Amino acid sequence: MDNEIAISGTGIAGLAAATAVIAADHNCVLFGPPAQVIKGGVQLAPNGWAALSVLGLAQDVLSEATRLYEITVRSLTNGATLARLPLKDVYASVAKADLATIFKQKIEKTDRFRHHYTTVKLTCLKNDSVTIIGKDERLYRVAGLVAADGVAGFGRAFISGQSEIAIRASLATDKVALRSTIHRSDLPNFFSQPVSNLWLGDGVHIVHYPIGDSSNIVATMTKRLAHSKWQERLFRHNTPLQFLVDPAIEWTSTPLPQSSNNICWRRGNMVLAGDAAHVMPPHLAQGAGQSLQDAACLMQSLTQHTDVTSAFAAYARHRSGAVAKITQKADISGKIMAFSGLAGKLRNAAIDLGGNHLMQEWLAEVWAADPGLRSQDT
Ligand SMILES: Cc1cc2nc3c(=O)[nH]c(=O)nc-3n(C[C@H](O)[C@H](O)[C@H](O)COP(=O)(O)OP(=O)(O)OC[C@H]3O[C@@H](n4cnc5c(N)ncnc54)[C@H](O)[C@@H]3O)c2cc1C
Repeated sequence: MDNEIAISGTGIAGLAAATAVIAADHNCVLFGPPAQVIKGGVQLAPNGWAALSVLGLAQDVLSEATRLYEITVRSLTNGATLARLPLKDVYASVAKADLATIFKQKIEKTDRFRHHYTTVKLTCLKNDSVTIIGKDERLYRVAGLVAADGVAGFGRAFISGQSEIAIRASLATDKVALRSTIHRSDLPNFFSQPVSNLWLGDGVHIVHYPIGDSSNIVATMTKRLAHSKWQERLFRHNTPLQFLVDPAIEWTSTPLPQSSNNICWRRGNMVLAGDAAHVMPPHLAQGAGQSLQDAACLMQSLTQHTDVTSAFAAYARHRSGAVAKITQKADISGKIMAFSGLAGKLRNAAIDLGGNHLMQEWLAEVWAADPGLRSQDT
């Protein structure tokens, strides 16, 4: 027990945190369901790749990733190109399933790793230990718990003192993301170009980028706009997006949360990581990237401190400060992307005039690797 740290959650944040714990020479016990087939992908910006380097996995992930060399912003209304931002540092998309497999291969081959396929139901915190009560009604005693169990999981509820229902209600918005992954052979070549595409419309925006042999497409709009035949209305007159009108294409709807990091990250020897710690809408494509940075920081904190309490305190202090500005920017970006009517026209005109410069300024801070990680790295 002395050395064992538990992780709850088998998403990207949980698997990355497990990698970090093992890399820092602790035993690791993972709680959560066996990994399901995870659909879709994520874009990872330079900060995500820097975190993967700290975890020793950048090359492995890069070998499964698709490098993207430009962000192109277009008007969804008339197809005009508004801005083209060259991507000089590593920026790439990767299937979530591939990312998860790489983490699992790394952690499962060590004898420091165990996986209990039960979820965490309750915890009891003592000064230097955590007793976990699993849904299987068994007790597990560990030195610390990293709760990476998502936006409305047990961890955020326990640390914030709110119920999971209250958390969901406080984060709810009227926005949804409709996502589809389509094989490249079913789409024109345009969709396979190594570019991250952003289409800005009237209260709607579309993001698409290639990922392996497919294209990952996400349309964000209000629930009201996402009524039946939304594809017809948005894509019918748009070349090349008109291919997306096809009724055979399956779209998965995900409600989008608003940003929130207004909570404490730590209680005793229990800390939050990933979406459990920092809820943000996906408008800056940063949720997974920040989860990787959480893991890199966790690894370095555990390496630098001899006791789990001090390591968790340093981790929580550092990451809660670093991520706050990113979640705020994700919210503001979403509001700008959702402009409609005159505001939408003015937004597009402004991007047309100074888009590259504006985007570079806005994203430089977001994409910068966590300075704490850099200094610990040297
Ligand atoms: C439309 C969309 C597009 C996105 N695009 C990007 C992008 O391009 N780039 C990017 O960086 N990010 C992106 N994101 C965000 C990214 O997907 C998430 O931030 C990331 O996957 C979060 O992972 P997580 O592990 O924290 O949470 P989750 O994936 O929610 O995982 C939580 C896990 O915890 C488990 N769990 C729940 N309760 C318990 C419990 N009590 N005990 C144990 N386990 C439990 C669940 O079963 C689940 O496996 C996007 C998100 C959306 C919605």
